[in-house]
Amino acid sequence: MQKAFASQADLEDKKVTFSQLSEHAWAYTAEGDPNTGVVIGDDAVLVIDTQATPAMAQDVIRHIRTVTDKPIRFVVLSHYHAVRVLGASAYGAEHIIASEETLDLIRERGEQDKASEIGRFPRLFRAVESIPPGLTWPTITFRDEMTLWLGKVEVRISHPGRGHTRGDTIVWLPQERTLFSGDLVEYNATPYAGDAYFQDWPRTLDKLAALDPLQLVPGRGDALRGREQVQAGLQGTRAFVQELFEAVRAGAQTSSDMHQIYRQVYGKLKVKYGQWVIFDHCMPFDVSRAYDEATAYPDPRIWTAERDVQMWKQLEA
Ligand SMILES: [Zn+2]
Repeated sequence: MQKAFASQADLEDKKVTFSQLSEHAWAYTAEGDPNTGVVIGDDAVLVIDTQATPAMAQDVIRHIRTVTDKPIRFVVLSHYHAVRVLGASAYGAEHIIASEETLDLIRERGEQDKASEIGRFPRLFRAVESIPPGLTWPTITFRDEMTLWLGKVEVRISHPGRGHTRGDTIVWLPQERTLFSGDLVEYNATPYAGDAYFQDWPRTLDKLAALDPLQLVPGRGDALRGREQVQAGLQGTRAFVQELFEAVRAGAQTSSDMHQIYRQVYGKLKVKYGQWVIFDHCMPFDVSRAYDEATAYPDPRIWTAERDVQMWKQLEA
């Protein structure tokens, strides 16, 4: 039997956890669904990744209001993916911060990504009608790094290099060694790599590891606490990315039959990573992008709703 397209058959709601990680940092996590980070400064709140719709963002706001009544003034987009950015309007923030590369990607492929992501994973776009027309546009962009002071709380926002996308952004609280990594790091969740730069991603993770975080909020999965668990999260993501790319590159050297390469790589990675959430969702997109990068496409091709379905039929037939 053919698998239902992407995650159209994934309908079960996850349990939300809102927990404090360090003096000013909180994590809104949901058993492998996309996470939101929260920094509560002296005078304002900063939110990292918004959830997919304003209606879903309202639940984040409700949790924030159980611990502070300070205004939510800043939203940081860790990257351009719709599931991270389209809830932004709910916060009424003064500023939406993103890297210049992320702004480029929103301009270039934001509309297609929105249609594609809603089609792939309808459950993650609860009350999709609450999304205002158009896209989420940053009001502040930076090239490499910027620092925001929430009173005495230092918030470093930077683009450490390419990985999950071309514009990946992390948020680092140096005073309490807490890192918000976006989808550059996942924990017990499969990294989505359909828009990735496989050969850059491990180097970028090295930069995150060099910060020596004591707490880390990944893009998906539980928040990581303590040096050992943080390094395990970084190492797990790095291993998946490297093993997948090497397996696809080896396959591409002897065959151009995508279906065959896919079955081989799927079988190989399933043993070690098959228990991570959204494994079956991610694999076709990840293998497609890895094949592109190993052959003719240095930059990820734009996914459209049509290309999604066409690829899925080819690989999952
Ligand atoms: Zn993403």
